[in-house]
Amino acid sequence: MSFPNLRGFAEVAPLASEIAAVTGAREDISLERAAVEELRRSIRGRVLLPDDDEYDVARRVRNRMIDKRPALITQCVGAGDIREAVDFARHYQLLTAVKCGGHNVAGKGSCEGGIMIDLSPLQGVRVDPIERRARVAGGSLLGSLDQECQSFGLATTAGTVSHTGVGGLTLGGGMGRLARRWGLASDNVSAVDIITADGQFRRASSDENPDLYWAVRGGGGNFGIVSSFEFKLHPLAHKVIGGRIYFPYSEAKNLLNFYAEYCHDMPDEMYADVVIFAPPMGVEKMVYFDVCYSGPHREAECALKPLRQAAKPLRDEIEAIDYVAMQSNHDDNDPRGTGQYLKSGFTREISPELVNALVDFLEPHPLRGGMAFFQQAGGAIGRIAPDETAFPHRYPSHNMMIGAVWRAGGEPDPHIAWARSYWKQVEDFTHGFYTNDEFAVSQSRAQLNFLGNHDRLVAAKNTYDPGNLFRLNSNIIPSV
Ligand SMILES: Cc1cc2nc3c(=O)[nH]c(=O)nc-3n(C[C@H](O)[C@H](O)[C@H](O)COP(=O)(O)OP(=O)(O)OC[C@H]3O[C@@H](n4cnc5c(N)ncnc54)[C@H](O)[C@@H]3O)c2cc1C
Repeated sequence: MSFPNLRGFAEVAPLASEIAAVTGAREDISLERAAVEELRRSIRGRVLLPDDDEYDVARRVRNRMIDKRPALITQCVGAGDIREAVDFARHYQLLTAVKCGGHNVAGKGSCEGGIMIDLSPLQGVRVDPIERRARVAGGSLLGSLDQECQSFGLATTAGTVSHTGVGGLTLGGGMGRLARRWGLASDNVSAVDIITADGQFRRASSDENPDLYWAVRGGGGNFGIVSSFEFKLHPLAHKVIGGRIYFPYSEAKNLLNFYAEYCHDMPDEMYADVVIFAPPMGVEKMVYFDVCYSGPHREAECALKPLRQAAKPLRDEIEAIDYVAMQSNHDDNDPRGTGQYLKSGFTREISPELVNALVDFLEPHPLRGGMAFFQQAGGAIGRIAPDETAFPHRYPSHNMMIGAVWRAGGEPDPHIAWARSYWKQVEDFTHGFYTNDEFAVSQSRAQLNFLGNHDRLVAAKNTYDPGNLFRLNSNIIPSV
């Protein structure tokens, strides 16, 4: 495909036959409609412009606070479509967003005035039960990965909400209920098919392009667009022992201090999140644990007993449950229905001082829907060397998150202010952060967060995306 030349917006006023757009450097340009029509003809999927009916749904991401309008959206159904879209984006130096599940809380799957390369039509999971491998298309959601694997009695690490994208979650790490047994989702990637910024299709594995294989496992979408992931799978019985156990908020400090100890001796088969939650007004604050024991059922009671005895539960919903059902049990009814603001950081331990700060400062907040949440790490995640993949954070006990949610259309500012001031009380207890939760972080902090892996990531960026086409992520700045 050939493209007409780029024209400076300042020199030529846009005609009706031109489409206003912005470059990665945030310069205004105009795209000739004829070029967009040519792109439309050259892909199997769709190209959507703001006046197309489907545009408004396609541009959305999960966080309703994000309301960006790309100049155009390419909905890709295969690697060939991705190549065309990447060539087009590179030719015009367009600001480029890549959307898989659209869950990124900061809205990095969308952009204002650039091109959104939407992978959501590119879904599919093929399990090879003999080799224990799954090939997963780059726009797939976690629910289909879990379900297809479990139909063969297999699984790999995925996140805890089934409509999260495999793409964003895996490239940035991927923590979930099985990660203490088998490592992060990215630790289980054995190969990827990827379209890099030059539009080339590449395979990356331990044998082919090993620098790229290393970089995509934790380096996010910096190096290209993954059209297909290959995951290692592990045997997992259909039923696990899991669910939520709720306790009164009056026990919050005791429970969090208990939890800190409990996590120390936990077997890898056991996973427990804890949430201290201030729900909408009129509903009691509460503490709940979301647990999953994925080992032999006869050993579950022993692992769960201390938790059940930690205080008198309000409700105990832990039971034998299908793993797939558990993985979608707490999906929201309308995944795009709320605004969200999140601050997060990794903890090395949950100290009594941190517990006091969390509980004391959640207490007086004036809003609806605030929470503090610990996602458990440790186990196999921590047994991998920090430089074995690009994901360097192997030390954390937990990923600690402070979140505020509100109804779509609500005024975000008071919620954001609340979350920021709550975060100030606890931020000093954190050490680095999970790039997949990154929200309003400065470029320099984002670079530092890659710790000792940063320079090697820059080298990979220089090779595979020297012009920084893929910048809407935890961005590695090329040095060439
Ligand atoms: C409700 C909720 C629950 C969550 N639970 C968990 C959890 O249990 N564990 C966990 O680890 N994280 C969790 N997360 C965080 C999650 O990992 C990130 O939000 C992640 O970015 C989601 O991926 P996505 O594909 O849906 O996002 P998108 O918004 O579609 O994309 C996010 C980023 O990934 C890049 N990207 C996506 N797909 C590709 C691809 N195929 N090739 C190249 N780049 C790509 C995009 O360019 C963008 O920078 C959760 C988030 C939410 C909102």
